[in-house]
Amino acid sequence: MRRALPVLISLLACFGGVNAQQRTLHAGIDVLNYEFTIRLPEAGRIIDAHAVITVRRSSSADNLILDLVGLQVDTVWVNSKPSAFQKDNTTLRVSLHPKTRQPADTLLVNIHYSGEVRDGLIIRTDSKGRWCAFGDNWPARARYWLPTFDDPADKASVTWNIIAPTDRTIVANGALMGERVLNSGDEHAKGKWRLTTWRMSKPIAPYLMVIAAAPLVSYDLGLTALGLSEFPPGVSQSVYVFPEQADYLPGPFERAGEIVEFFSKTIAPFPYEKLAHLQSSTRYGGMENASAIFYAEDIFRRHMMTYGLIAHETAHQWFGDAVTPRSWGHVWLSEGFATYFEKLWVEKSEGEAAFRTGMKELRDEVVNAREVRQRPVIDTLQTELMQLLNTNSYQKGAWTLHMLRSMLGDSLFFGGIRVYYMRHRHSNATSDDLCDDLGGFAHTNLQWFFDQWLRRPGFPEIAVGWKYDAQSQTVILEIDQHSGFEPYRFPLKVEIQTTDGGSQTMPVNVPAERSYRVVFPQKLRFPPKTLLFDPSIELLATVKSAPMD
Ligand SMILES: [Zn+2]
Repeated sequence: MRRALPVLISLLACFGGVNAQQRTLHAGIDVLNYEFTIRLPEAGRIIDAHAVITVRRSSSADNLILDLVGLQVDTVWVNSKPSAFQKDNTTLRVSLHPKTRQPADTLLVNIHYSGEVRDGLIIRTDSKGRWCAFGDNWPARARYWLPTFDDPADKASVTWNIIAPTDRTIVANGALMGERVLNSGDEHAKGKWRLTTWRMSKPIAPYLMVIAAAPLVSYDLGLTALGLSEFPPGVSQSVYVFPEQADYLPGPFERAGEIVEFFSKTIAPFPYEKLAHLQSSTRYGGMENASAIFYAEDIFRRHMMTYGLIAHETAHQWFGDAVTPRSWGHVWLSEGFATYFEKLWVEKSEGEAAFRTGMKELRDEVVNAREVRQRPVIDTLQTELMQLLNTNSYQKGAWTLHMLRSMLGDSLFFGGIRVYYMRHRHSNATSDDLCDDLGGFAHTNLQWFFDQWLRRPGFPEIAVGWKYDAQSQTVILEIDQHSGFEPYRFPLKVEIQTTDGGSQTMPVNVPAERSYRVVFPQKLRFPPKTLLFDPSIELLATVKSAPMD
């Protein structure tokens, strides 16, 4: 996702944010599919809903514990038999019949529930008095309107059956399966309600399961990335906005087709049935819900949509959505990737210089961020999940990928990324998976690299002294890492500019030592004019340099 404006973030902090304890998945229980049938209200926040959950049980678990905050549960059936259940404020416990002897059994859990929705599905009336609702679940708010195993590691396919007044457009994950005006009920209701069905056939995490219900109009962006989608023939995209914003379109979405095509070629075929972009009520600038990206409403109203935001949320369809971090401590696998792939789109669309400028800006943000000095990127101790939306997960995560690419070269880096993606597609991954897959593809052990950049705070703060030795006609460098951080191991490129206008670039493999002295083997007949360190922006570090006496 893209963080919202700072004002909004601080407001949210006042509400206490989310403090969801990471749980271990209960052993042997795996949700395979959710089918939600939700009757939305004409006004207000009370929903009447039905969930059919397909659960695979491979253990002897005799309880199914689902997350569900607030709301009332009326009945629960398991495999067409009424079942005992307990509902407290945050969970629903369903008794399962004793497990039969076969290795695994599949249960159909049918839950009827209703009540006033307080979060997750953001229901409001806009300035024109129109009722609208948008799912906004990150990181653990699906449970406020959907009984789920609300954990990024339990992914499932989902079907949405949404009953709503006919003047609302319903959009959800996956493909539109059908729409039908309902003619049952009393005379008054006839022709006024419609059932809309969407189906996401790939497994996704509950935090990405959303619907939109609002008087939206759609703009068809057409079909691109032919032959580059898991759902042939290509990727069909559209934008949904409130009628007042219709004339803003396509606006920056004119390049949405190229963006999808670029990522499909760089990574792998697009993973979902379609890609919709919606004006919505998300608390984030943009939220990468699988196949239905929700953007903050204001961005459309003020005509402030950017290619960068579209590229970021689109890249998440692969990284975050199709390959989901196994737990929130590894959220950089989602946000760091989206941030870096947004910059790769800049490189593709605006060229090398714009890309380097973009990486330099990200680096400035990293070296100035307090959290980068205090906490590692892989932060499994942070329980305030909103706090993980920080410079570590985004900018430092992106820089970690950038350094891997610089170190391995394009073909090994992108080849390894493709291996990692394909191995964990429609499933979960950890940072160790990425380390193993990239390292395996490149035939090199990357453990030291992942440990130093992701598992401890900071970055190299380097002081370099250099001098020209006239007798030996060589340049000598003294590289010091005396800051508060442990010394790093990294490749450092040094460009030596000579007084005759020439230059040569020398790579130095700096070891993880406080002080390192290196003598360049090339002889220079005259003292160099100047030395440039990391001229092509490939190292996350601060460098201070000066000639030595
Ligand atoms: Zn993001």
